[in-house]
Amino acid sequence: MAQIIDGKAISQTIKDEVKQEVQELSAQGIPVTLAVIQVGEDPASTVYVNNKKKACAYTGIRSLAYHLPENTGQDELLDLIGQLNEREDVNGILVQLPLPAGMDEDAVIEAISPKKDVDGFHPQSVGALCIGKPGFLPCTPAGIIEILKRSGIDPAGKECVMIGRSNIVGKPMALLLLRENGTVTVAHSRTADLKEVSRRADILVVATGKAKMITAEYVKPGAAVIDVGMDRDENNRLCGDVDFEAVSGIAGAITPVPGGVGPMTIAMLMKNCVRAARMQNAAEKDS
Ligand code: NAP
Repeated sequence: MAQIIDGKAISQTIKDEVKQEVQELSAQGIPVTLAVIQVGEDPASTVYVNNKKKACAYTGIRSLAYHLPENTGQDELLDLIGQLNEREDVNGILVQLPLPAGMDEDAVIEAISPKKDVDGFHPQSVGALCIGKPGFLPCTPAGIIEILKRSGIDPAGKECVMIGRSNIVGKPMALLLLRENGTVTVAHSRTADLKEVSRRADILVVATGKAKMITAEYVKPGAAVIDVGMDRDENNRLCGDVDFEAVSGIAGAITPVPGGVGPMTIAMLMKNCVRAARMQNAAEKDS
């Protein structure tokens, strides 16, 4: 039976570390503030935004919530981002995605100052990751690296297979595994013989959005299996992209859904906010 990696416990440890850092910064007169913008009434976005506000409250990060109506014009949203970019008391800016139809998400992401891009989606952050320069890392892949490190799983020299190549998970995850000196293969829907490719993995990360598609046949005995999926099974229960029951019998370690990767994303967002505050403060002192 595989070691079940407790992402909830790891994320709690990270939030407690962040809380400590926020207290230390506050004692130095450096408060940490995150601005969260939601446009429209998408119910899933409302849940995510509320969870982010709760994590801010827990860690001592001040959150400024901007909930704009569905019919907000793109210029109005860009104006708000522009104002938040200028405000010295705002360290991080997050626009909850998806945006209502008709808005240009790329233009909105690009409007956020890279210095305040705590989601790590700005092209400058993505480019920095690609060429190994400092920048904000996207929270879900960064959270997976933390999970691996804190579980004693080192990607260095290992065969790492990333199934999925999205901009928010698959591609940055592959780059981070490469940065950790893994030998990385990226698989996707056009990969020939996915089972054969997947079975090479010492570390298998799955982000396909296809409920329970990774069965035991895709997994090398003893592999570490990280399940990013947040799907619904035939009984409408939350499940991952990995068939947990089957794969936990063969893997060496596995993240469950829920309670694996999911809780890490917000913990890493909190970490990015602290980093933003530190960097902005250091830049202010230098100037
Ligand atoms: P996405 O943008 O839909 O990308 C899915 C990727 O999986 C694509 O690259 C696609 O290949 C590949 N794929 C789909 N079906 C496949 C198959 N049968 N065989 C091989 N590859 C296949 O999804 P995403 O945004 O990366 O999200 C993936 C999952 O992670 C979702 O369940 C999402 O809810 C979850 N998620 C969780 C968190 C978290 O915080 N835990 C964060 C983000 C996402 P092509 O490129 O060839 O189409």
